[in-house]
Amino acid sequence: MRSSEGGSPSSGVSRSAVVVGAGIGGLTAAVALRRIGWHVTVLERATAIATVGAGLSLWPNAVRVLALLDLDEAVASHAVSAVIRANMRNPNGRWVRHAHPCDVKVLVVHRADLHQVLRGALPQEALRTDATVVAVTEKDGEKDGAQDRVTVTYESQGARQEVTADLVVAADGIDSAIRRQLWPDHPVARFQRRTIWRGVTEPDGVWPITESLTLGRGAQFGLLPLTDHRVYWFLVVNADQPGQGYGDEHAEVRRRVDGWHDPIPVLVEATRPDRVLHNDNFDLDPLPTFVHGRTVLLGDAAHAMTPDLGQGGCQAIEDAVVLADALLTNRDLSGALASYDQQRRTRAQAVAAAARQSNARNCNDSAVAYAMTNLVAQLTPQGLWRKLTAEWSTWTPPTALRTGASRRRT
Ligand SMILES: Cc1cc2nc3c(=O)[nH]c(=O)nc-3n(C[C@H](O)[C@H](O)[C@H](O)COP(=O)(O)OP(=O)(O)OC[C@H]3O[C@@H](n4cnc5c(N)ncnc54)[C@H](O)[C@@H]3O)c2cc1C
Repeated sequence: MRSSEGGSPSSGVSRSAVVVGAGIGGLTAAVALRRIGWHVTVLERATAIATVGAGLSLWPNAVRVLALLDLDEAVASHAVSAVIRANMRNPNGRWVRHAHPCDVKVLVVHRADLHQVLRGALPQEALRTDATVVAVTEKDGEKDGAQDRVTVTYESQGARQEVTADLVVAADGIDSAIRRQLWPDHPVARFQRRTIWRGVTEPDGVWPITESLTLGRGAQFGLLPLTDHRVYWFLVVNADQPGQGYGDEHAEVRRRVDGWHDPIPVLVEATRPDRVLHNDNFDLDPLPTFVHGRTVLLGDAAHAMTPDLGQGGCQAIEDAVVLADALLTNRDLSGALASYDQQRRTRAQAVAAAARQSNARNCNDSAVAYAMTNLVAQLTPQGLWRKLTAEWSTWTPPTALRTGASRRRT
């Protein structure tokens, strides 16, 4: 893929990137790289961009990036503004904490809608589906006389193909094949002793609905409104081992929330059984670097974290714009990638560590820990609560990518 379109304005040299994975991170990276004039090809192993999934909370740090990319209004048109960890109840319905007008708001969006907006910001030809990447090969340009120096090998419809570019962005998720190839000694993702069911439903007779988090002992149930009269819910519970299935996952959730306050049982009952998703909580130990030659890790491939802070996708979105900014503002590629590595490792690994700590705290299902959780929720002054819940969302993106439109809006 030797491109004459695109290039880094700072270098004046034509540049191209292969992005591996069309999840939130890969798609945002593709949009951001195109914004700075790079030629981008996204390779995605699925045969179509995801239309499944459940809800996702986008904190202000991610929304600011979307604004920078002029995508905030499109995403907001599919989203509901809500507070998270602000309305808290016990399973018997007793309120532990009520939301305050100063609580930080997030955008709650269906993952498929977010994907659609990001996908819509890319030209058709930028995305190749049914393309499973199997290897990345760095070439020494000076020795080979090659202009583009990293080759991605992928399989599509049973055939092997190659594409060559200046940069590979490995956004291939928590089990990243590229990370396994280039960081072979790094441990695989670690199970964090909790498991989560999620669903999206369109229930009758429960409106208006208030977003809330219900604190059980060793179990939490969250509900968040989505657009189009849909509700996103999740149930997270402690688990001894990963991979445990229950046969009928829908029945398992119904059993676990039986007797919990309204509208929880109604929401679960109203959910189509085939729409109930079940995942275990995993995260990744901190990597010593996100960069290997001309390959960078981005999103979950670099720093998968437990969902406790609702920041995994937000961090992938941050990665994308910091990468593009570093490429725009650094003269040489290695300097740009070093800058990306330094900025993103510091930030994303701190968020992942905080998520892991939060997960560990939530795992403690002793009577004392449960009582403490309730007390803290009841007694923490509003100012401190806001600070704690919004700690990671105050980040602002670098501004070199700003267009006229995003400048006017911010
Ligand atoms: C239960 C749960 C709730 C969550 N809630 C939130 C939330 O509220 N807010 C938030 O910000 N985050 C949340 N997250 C985290 C968020 O989902 C992830 O951080 C985010 O999806 C990571 O995006 P990504 O693009 O890095 O990876 P992924 O979304 O995993 O995308 C990776 C892509 O790469 C593709 N791929 C993989 N291997 C290959 C290959 N070899 N070749 C080609 N393509 C490949 C995959 O098919 C996939 O499309 C949650 C996570 C979980 C599990």
